[in-house]
Amino acid sequence: MRVAVIGAGVAGLTCAHRLTAQGHVCDVYERWPGLGGQAATLDVGSGHRLERYYHHLFTSDRHIAALYEELGMPEELEWRPSSVAFFLEGRSWPFTSPADLLRFRPLSLRSRLRMGLAVLWLQRRARDVAPFEGRTACDWIVAAMGREAYAKVWGPLLRGKFGDRADDVSMAWLWGKLTMRRRLQGKEAGQELLGYPRRSWEPLFAALRESVEAGGGRVLIDRPVKRVSRGFEVLAGAPGSFRAGHDPRAYAADGSERYDAVVATVPNDVFRALLDDELAGAIGEAYLTRLERIEYHTALCLLLELDRGFTPFYWTNIADPELPFVGVIEHTNLVEPARYGGRRFVYVANYLAAGDELLSLSADDLLARYEPGLRRINPAFSRSWVRERWLHREPAAQPIVTVGYGERIPPLRTGVPGLVLANTTQIYPEDRGTNYAVRLGGDAASVLLSAG
Ligand SMILES: Cc1cc2nc3c(=O)[nH]c(=O)nc-3n(C[C@H](O)[C@H](O)[C@H](O)COP(=O)(O)OP(=O)(O)OC[C@H]3O[C@@H](n4cnc5c(N)ncnc54)[C@H](O)[C@@H]3O)c2cc1C
Repeated sequence: MRVAVIGAGVAGLTCAHRLTAQGHVCDVYERWPGLGGQAATLDVGSGHRLERYYHHLFTSDRHIAALYEELGMPEELEWRPSSVAFFLEGRSWPFTSPADLLRFRPLSLRSRLRMGLAVLWLQRRARDVAPFEGRTACDWIVAAMGREAYAKVWGPLLRGKFGDRADDVSMAWLWGKLTMRRRLQGKEAGQELLGYPRRSWEPLFAALRESVEAGGGRVLIDRPVKRVSRGFEVLAGAPGSFRAGHDPRAYAADGSERYDAVVATVPNDVFRALLDDELAGAIGEAYLTRLERIEYHTALCLLLELDRGFTPFYWTNIADPELPFVGVIEHTNLVEPARYGGRRFVYVANYLAAGDELLSLSADDLLARYEPGLRRINPAFSRSWVRERWLHREPAAQPIVTVGYGERIPPLRTGVPGLVLANTTQIYPEDRGTNYAVRLGGDAASVLLSAG
């Protein structure tokens, strides 16, 4: 078959790699002038690449680890001790080991003990997601750990992912996060290890591209799809279309090709906008309504190069609601600055509803808005520490996983033979990530081939 794969993120590239291995020829169309989608990197100078959005792996991320093995590059993955803190009540509280929980004075001793016991119970006894699917995380946590634990720890953690929709998030999502991401025995019992590829995620994308090309396919960057019609006719957008935003209807047309099958790995709203009327009619209202009913939050991520360290931690959760961002991720506290010629990189993270006014600010204006908050965390911080800054926005960054989400997920099979949708909304109950995008890409290839 000749297959058009739409999107050169981890799912699209992996799907094309799997189809190529089965003897099919894939053309991968990508809107952005680079590979990797949400895990794409940028050149930060002096030959170093860094993800636009902070990225690491968990030791439980076996699908992506297996892909590195399969591609003959397992030595790329390095595992390093993580360090986590909560910023609350004017200071950063270490939150890395179980002992840190006992020292976490913003919570009463009773709440600390209740919290520890409830997490242990979840991790050791709660094997099945079903009992958690009908409740919000807020509801479950207040009942199991008390209101204080939700107000000071879990509410802020959920806000760090879901912004103002934190209270609506399903307990199934938190169950997945707490039970699936970490091995609890051995070296990791006391301190979590996180993975980071020694030369960023970029070599993985390059290896997948080479595999697709070796099978006679093409990986086309700055070459978005504008429209898909029955048949399947794939109409491309002109170079530079990414400047027009995410809606493919805004792109100038630039030639079409016919394929036997199409796998789309784009967000739901982009997929809907790609379909011509006849194809949308063939898919049917029931499926299209599923696409529309899932909401996303936008990631707004400011990457700073600083001339010195900012915190002693890799990951700081911001639990103080007065600060206008939700996390500070100091990459060079996970990977040593020596890797980058002594340079230091810090991400300031936010997840916001579409239309939030912070999303319209330039990097400098956003930094000005964040500065007082950054000074609350490190009072010595000054603008003069900032050597360089980059700002990225990802509108479909985080599907909002509310109660009953599992029943609303659009299936990979669209109902039209040969047309498959595989995107982050279908990762459940796990938290979406590159590991699950690898699994999803493989599933998309299997679904396509099993459909004939
Ligand atoms: C802030 C942030 C932090 C994250 N941190 C981590 C982490 O620490 N660890 C981890 O494993 N994961 C992390 N993730 C999640 C991870 O990056 C994603 O789950 C994963 O990359 C999704 O891959 P995908 O291929 O499914 O989707 P995407 O990466 O979204 O790929 C879809 C692709 O489609 C392209 N596209 C869109 N429209 C068109 C069009 N019309 N034509 C052609 N192409 C189009 C897009 O440009 C994109 O490349 C993070 C994500 C964000 C936003």
